[in-house]
Amino acid sequence: MSSTAVSLSMPVVPRRRRSPEEVAAAAPVTGEKRVLLAAPRGYCAGVDRAVIAVEKALEHHGAPVYVRKQIVHNVHVVSSLEARGAIFVEENDEVPEGALVVFSAHGVSPAVVQSAADRGLRTIDATCPLVTKVHKEAVRFAKEDNHILLIGHEGHEEVEGTYGEAPESTTIVNNPEEARTVQVADPDHLIWLSQTTLSVDETMEIVDILRERFPNLQNPPSDDICYATTNRQSAIKEIAPQADLVIVVGSANSSNSVRLVEVALEYGAKASYRVDFAHEIDESWFEGVASVGVTSGASVPEILVKDVLSLLAEYGFASVEEVVTATEDILFSLPKELRATLKAAGDPAYKGARSSNLL
Ligand code: SF4
Repeated sequence: MSSTAVSLSMPVVPRRRRSPEEVAAAAPVTGEKRVLLAAPRGYCAGVDRAVIAVEKALEHHGAPVYVRKQIVHNVHVVSSLEARGAIFVEENDEVPEGALVVFSAHGVSPAVVQSAADRGLRTIDATCPLVTKVHKEAVRFAKEDNHILLIGHEGHEEVEGTYGEAPESTTIVNNPEEARTVQVADPDHLIWLSQTTLSVDETMEIVDILRERFPNLQNPPSDDICYATTNRQSAIKEIAPQADLVIVVGSANSSNSVRLVEVALEYGAKASYRVDFAHEIDESWFEGVASVGVTSGASVPEILVKDVLSLLAEYGFASVEEVVTATEDILFSLPKELRATLKAAGDPAYKGARSSNLL
């Protein structure tokens, strides 16, 4: 058994940073230095629910609590939960028989649920309800004899889970090129679904290509790209044309964070970079920069954004204007297995709770 398969506690060594004076001397800035801070940003309801599920599992069941895959795609969140006693594994066979395992927000296929049952594992399913919705669609459309074109990134855990609901009836379409070449047996019984964290624009481009080739392609009943992905992309679309630089806080394996960099560049940011932590910011990025856009992916705790803002203030970007393009108040109830435990223990969180968002 390996308990370090996805351990992320490795130390990160900061680079030497020039002083703000050195940066200013290298390329004087014209115009007032300012930060445009995107809202919404950071934690979505699905991530919040998944993080609190692990926190509450640790609190009520005690360490260790096993978690299959990263609970959410964020280095800081994973290492913080590891420090509290969570053990992240890649597969169920790394979990001791009878132990408690939490399934991540990205969802699992029926085969994974079955393998946990076969091993006698106790499970808490922290799959985001919006991912579960896509799973249910896949099952229903396959039962109705449709073939599913699943737009998403092959190898991403969410896509693996959705694909696993109906593998005989599903083909993954990764990009526009694949949309131009994918072959289907019956173009009159065809529907598309998508990963929840894609670029809205690129997904619609893929759908347009598919529809041109397969005019009877059906739409899902509602968009699969979730509200949080859409809202974070809309906010950065507003900011990007005014920004010399956009900094996205988020991890490399966070699909929605990576998409935010792409969307920022597409909508006019002169440069855009993704960082896990403030100390990864390279001072050369500030040369000639007056306005910096800042946002964060849906799995990023706000404390990491605050660190970035503090660093920006050191370089003279102390004026922060929040650009609000939507407000969010969605709260998902906790996984049912956990609610039962909390209720029995008299923990009021069984009625609904948010994580600290400050791991
Ligand atoms: S990004 Fe969307 S689908 Fe993914 S966990 Fe958050 S709310 Fe759920």
